[in-house]
Amino acid sequence: MEAWILLALAPVFVLCVLWEAWYWRGKGVYSLRDTVSNAALALMHQGADALAWLAVIGLYYWVYQYRWFDLPSNVWGIAGLVIAQDFFYYGFHRASHRIRWLWASHVTHHSSERLNLSTAFRQSITYPISGMWLFWLPLAWIGFEPTHIVAVVAINLGFQFFVHTQAIGKLGWLEYVFNTPSHHRVHHARNPEYIDRNYAGVLIIWDKLFGTYVDEDPAQPCEYGIVRQIHSHNPLLLTFHEWLAMFRDAARATSARARLLQLFGPPEHALDASGKET
Ligand SMILES: [Zn+2]
Ligand SMILES: [Zn+2]
Repeated sequence: MEAWILLALAPVFVLCVLWEAWYWRGKGVYSLRDTVSNAALALMHQGADALAWLAVIGLYYWVYQYRWFDLPSNVWGIAGLVIAQDFFYYGFHRASHRIRWLWASHVTHHSSERLNLSTAFRQSITYPISGMWLFWLPLAWIGFEPTHIVAVVAINLGFQFFVHTQAIGKLGWLEYVFNTPSHHRVHHARNPEYIDRNYAGVLIIWDKLFGTYVDEDPAQPCEYGIVRQIHSHNPLLLTFHEWLAMFRDAARATSARARLLQLFGPPEHALDASGKET
């Protein structure tokens, strides 16, 4: 079902990308190789995601048996689910930047030096290995119906497509409540003052509540990508490079504690060629 929601929206996404590529023609915001690579990663991700849901939906129904509440399936129940899922998305996304085991998947999304609507397609097939599905499990425990959870996870991702653009400036009062292109440009920037900020999915309020919000400053233009840029368009390299680096670093670590730090500590503990922390 999740796959169907995003598949149904696919023509809208493609039309928006075509419009934006035309809008930025000759400005260097788009490159064909980058966009083709993003599209390949999107297809791979959709396949992996559908398989992952098939594998874990039984677990969701098992947990759902022990739910705390019997929540209504009406508009209020769905509204509650959208807000609750977005809260857990904030937690998932923050963990994806601060725990290397999760960053190994999420880095793929951040590794483009460009930012345009097609960057939203750039996802990793390894999220199920990182354990993304664990982050929505509490929703079933609270009492949200598992198929509704699957749908709302997809809707959240679908919403986020529209925040991957440099074509839209600030959006007035919406900036106070919602994740917007301005907020998400900051999230994709590698400037020291912007890094690890604005983790929001749909609502920016979580960043404001938990102290991870920063405003886009016109005096500080965003520089897109990751600290150690990868300079590749190969979907397999973009998918696996951080996993390889992480396991190599864990193998080179000299104590059990250092090994665990490489796997589950913050990504900046990565080792350089001489085996020292970077
Ligand atoms: Zn991110
Ligand atoms: Zn993004």
